[in-house]
Amino acid sequence: MAPRAKAIGLADPCVDKCSDRGNQYYDEDHPIERSNTNIVPQDSGPDIFDIIREELEAKEVEKGKGFFIPRGSLQETFTPGRLLAAVQQLWKDVPEEGHQRLCIRILHEVRCWKVFLLFIYTQLHESLPELWKNESGKDSLRLSDRCLPLISITPDGKIACQNKTHSHRLPGRKTRKLSGKDCKHMVLASYAFNAVYFKLPTKGKKNHVHYSLGPKDVLPYTIDSPSPDRSLVKGRAGSAGQASNNVKLRPDTDQDDNLHGGFGEVKRIIIDRSHFDFGHLGSDDGKNKELTFALKRLHASDKEAFDKELASLITVKAQKSTHLIKLLATFSVIEEDGGSEVFYLLFPWAEGNLWKYWEVHQPKNEQDRLSIAPWMAQQCHQLALALLCVHNEREHTLQFYEVPAGKGELYGRHGDIKAENVLYFEADGTLVLSDFGLGRLHTKYSRSNADPKALEKSATYRAPEFDLAKGRISRKSDVFSLGCMFLEFVTWHVLGYDAVYEVFPDYRMDEDTAYGFATDIFFKIEGDTAIIKPKVCEWMVKLRKHERASEYTKQFLDIIEKMLSPYPNDRINVAKLVRELGVIRKACERDPSYYGGESPSRSYVFHLIKPP
Ligand SMILES: [Zn+2]
Repeated sequence: MAPRAKAIGLADPCVDKCSDRGNQYYDEDHPIERSNTNIVPQDSGPDIFDIIREELEAKEVEKGKGFFIPRGSLQETFTPGRLLAAVQQLWKDVPEEGHQRLCIRILHEVRCWKVFLLFIYTQLHESLPELWKNESGKDSLRLSDRCLPLISITPDGKIACQNKTHSHRLPGRKTRKLSGKDCKHMVLASYAFNAVYFKLPTKGKKNHVHYSLGPKDVLPYTIDSPSPDRSLVKGRAGSAGQASNNVKLRPDTDQDDNLHGGFGEVKRIIIDRSHFDFGHLGSDDGKNKELTFALKRLHASDKEAFDKELASLITVKAQKSTHLIKLLATFSVIEEDGGSEVFYLLFPWAEGNLWKYWEVHQPKNEQDRLSIAPWMAQQCHQLALALLCVHNEREHTLQFYEVPAGKGELYGRHGDIKAENVLYFEADGTLVLSDFGLGRLHTKYSRSNADPKALEKSATYRAPEFDLAKGRISRKSDVFSLGCMFLEFVTWHVLGYDAVYEVFPDYRMDEDTAYGFATDIFFKIEGDTAIIKPKVCEWMVKLRKHERASEYTKQFLDIIEKMLSPYPNDRINVAKLVRELGVIRKACERDPSYYGGESPSRSYVFHLIKPP
């Protein structure tokens, strides 16, 4: 799949490529207010430098081999009052108005307060008055905050501005040279002061920011250790599930175990609060002032796969669905000079996937169970709508690719609808479809010479067309998978978590004639014909007849039946599915008795008067 001329991914004009670590965004979002009155000194006295340095050292955040100091901490520590106190110590022979004037110059005109702070932090502040005088006679430092971080250009201690358009140098010929050690310290600290600031673009046509970072850049997050609430997740079937005949796929309830899917790995990270602005997005775990996010690192330094992933995600971003995972930012890191580039994608952190939701949110009583129905109807409707968005996105993105003959339908779908790929966001109470990046399909199919059908043979929710010689894989295959997941949802709602996790998979276990061992897939191949497993049909009858089944349950099961048609031509399409789910959602919203909300006997009466 070689891209055609048109630009996608990083080359898309909607992508803002940021090479200053978000410095400009940060300055726009956090301007230093210019006061009309004189600055009032704070902590005046010869100790001011120690006070500032010790406070900064206490705010260092360890990060692998290095560290960073949050941007917010720099501003909190180095107040205009403390700058004045420092200036008073450094320029003792200058009168009071001169000190005020210098502060204005440092803070607003030259804008070099961070460079100043760097000298204090590295205990080199005594050289500041000497450096401040410059050959041209104009008072400045030659370096401004826009020059940071710094680079060391010679081993004997010359420091230069990183920005190629400035090529500022420090120190000048007439000034005291810094020692090699000082120089190293200052360069390191200049990176620690400039950890990346992430931002969602708010204006203009850009709708995504990608940060290009170098080997010395510091990222403003720490990796979160597993949270204690993981203990809520019961131990799984264990090694049994990993045996050679891996037929009953025990679902994972933790998203970080399954979001990677051979394409990348996901870590839960905490980003310092002063290092991002994602509007209302981001989940506050309540314990810390920092917020948690999911960071996905692509396994291979494969720009093409990244471009495809990015293209999918920014196209759906434009569709503004709240039920599709939101991409917050991306960045790439050149691991060492001239080395390979590693790609990362940043997403909001979800409390868990749908499996974890089912486990943790088991209804406590009948009232509780019934009250979930309208929410469930709404979420399932929205998930179908989200799938429609993904299909539209595919149509849009694939037009920029040469798709191998006959493979258009293969790439034109989500390709991995399952409860593990539906995430739950506690704060808004929403279910969100994830892992729809085209990159995943790309790596899955293009890297392997294997038949795509063979690759998906292990998936519990796969559609019968994967196992039929003449079967054509298409968007309708996603509908089948979504139908399997919805049937599990109804099972959970009527019978509870054990039924969906243990009983139903065991019940539908049946020998698969194609492989000669039992699997928990939903269909069966008999000769050249695909049928839905009789046990699955029986299960649906059981659900319908159950005393807890409401009119809503039954009509939802009617729709699911259309989703599970063994042949794609008979299967409901996504657009129609969205309409039908919309109808039962509205019925739930309008009339509580539809889902058994008022008197439990009413739905029974309804059932009796309904014609057969
Ligand atoms: Zn510069």
